[in-house]
Amino acid sequence: MNGSRTLREPERLIFERSSQGRVGYQLPALEVPPVDPSATLPAALLRGEIEGMPEVSEVDVVRHFTRLSKWNYSVDEGLYPLGSCTMKYNPRINEELARLAGIAQLHPLQPEDQVQGALALMWELEQALVAVTGMPKVTLQPAAGAHGELAGMLMIRKALMDRGEHRKLVLIPDSAHGTNPASAVFAGFETVEIASTAQGTLDLAVLARHLDGGDVAALMVTVPNTLGVFEPEIVKTAGLLHEKGAYLYMDGANLNSFVGIAYPGKMGADALHINLHKTFSTPHGGGGPGAGPVAVSQALVSYLPVPTVEKVGGRYTLSYDRPKSIGKVRGFYGNFGMLVRALAYIRSLGRDGLKSMSEGAVLNANYIRKRLEGDYHLQYDGPSLHEVVFDDTFQAASGVKNVDIAKRLLDYGFHPPTMSFPLIVHGALMIEPTESDGIDELDAFIAAMKTIAVEAKENPELVKGAPYTTPVARLDEVRAARQPVLRWQRTKS
Ligand SMILES: *Cc1c(COP(=O)(O)O)cnc(C)c1O
Repeated sequence: MNGSRTLREPERLIFERSSQGRVGYQLPALEVPPVDPSATLPAALLRGEIEGMPEVSEVDVVRHFTRLSKWNYSVDEGLYPLGSCTMKYNPRINEELARLAGIAQLHPLQPEDQVQGALALMWELEQALVAVTGMPKVTLQPAAGAHGELAGMLMIRKALMDRGEHRKLVLIPDSAHGTNPASAVFAGFETVEIASTAQGTLDLAVLARHLDGGDVAALMVTVPNTLGVFEPEIVKTAGLLHEKGAYLYMDGANLNSFVGIAYPGKMGADALHINLHKTFSTPHGGGGPGAGPVAVSQALVSYLPVPTVEKVGGRYTLSYDRPKSIGKVRGFYGNFGMLVRALAYIRSLGRDGLKSMSEGAVLNANYIRKRLEGDYHLQYDGPSLHEVVFDDTFQAASGVKNVDIAKRLLDYGFHPPTMSFPLIVHGALMIEPTESDGIDELDAFIAAMKTIAVEAKENPELVKGAPYTTPVARLDEVRAARQPVLRWQRTKS
């Protein structure tokens, strides 16, 4: 677990292991005269000696990186309850399929006739996402959720321009993910934050007041929101927006909670991104790769990015025939490997499997919620779906904060939940177990959380000093951010 600490000295950098003359492998002596590279290549393209390359043996390299790899925590190791991130197990069959030679070795510049299978795969994934969302058309291009948001907001801007309108404002609830305002601003809008109700949902009176100004382009709303709470008046909300000529952008990052149960198309969404790397189990973490397809309503179909995948008379083709398109948002086919994995996941679960996936995610979150609600405070105690947001209010008396609880969880062998998000919950601990885990793992996590709640009361210093079992203990996170040391430098001797 987590590379438990031993009396061994801490792992040094590979550079610091260097010992002059030690080598991993050496080529046999040349049997032909050496060629001087500068005789054939321009000097500007030649690389000199790399200074400071570590001199290490093969076993040094293997052991160094194997030890480092054991410091990782992954969804293959245990529960990964990082809320909003939907850290699901990626079934191995997805990897098998993405690695098939006919798929993995395609070249993005191959002519359409040679990649009919790849185009068919994309077309089928689009059809599946149309079925899941209940919306008429989908683009697979965007490379992440945030990228999908940008594509969606650009389509909304283009549609408004087409109507000769220059609306500036995008309304965003205070519970929103930070990418929402960032994407709106990138697309050229100004954002207005709107306060949630005491139940953590949209305040329709506030919304209506803003809409009366006539300058609102869209509302960006996450359904269910980042508190795991479903917006009960989403249909009415869409109606209010449409009545005033504004659009509904739906952040679909939490789609894992309602596949096969509810349909954004029926809720009135105009654009919705889907994080394939969340709901459809493709791997994520460390910044990518991901895929953030966007589904749009009829009102935005003309503005979809080109090319779109079309099926014409049994043949698949990439069509650029979309005069009002916002253009390309990603090169070639998008993150094709992610599309393969997502389709594999969708096909292996099927309609019923996808529905029980969402039911399992909601059940797991509510099981954790019920078992821990006496130990950790809930600011919003209405019904929630796939995630539950506790906070550190009960621990405040002993000075234990959410970060201490998260660090102590490391000692018990779990990845911590998301912390301090959503911003409207002070000291938040946002837990999203997903459906990937069974009751044994959930119970083990709950037991650890309960033990920490007791420790926080009886021995707060213990919790505040955690973690004790990891290769490094508490880091100075502020200093790490302000004075990052990103590359090794030889210390002058
Ligand atoms: C993850 C997430 C996003 C951003 O998606 P990326 O794929 O990480 O760009 C946006 N909104 C919510 C609610 C999310 O959870």
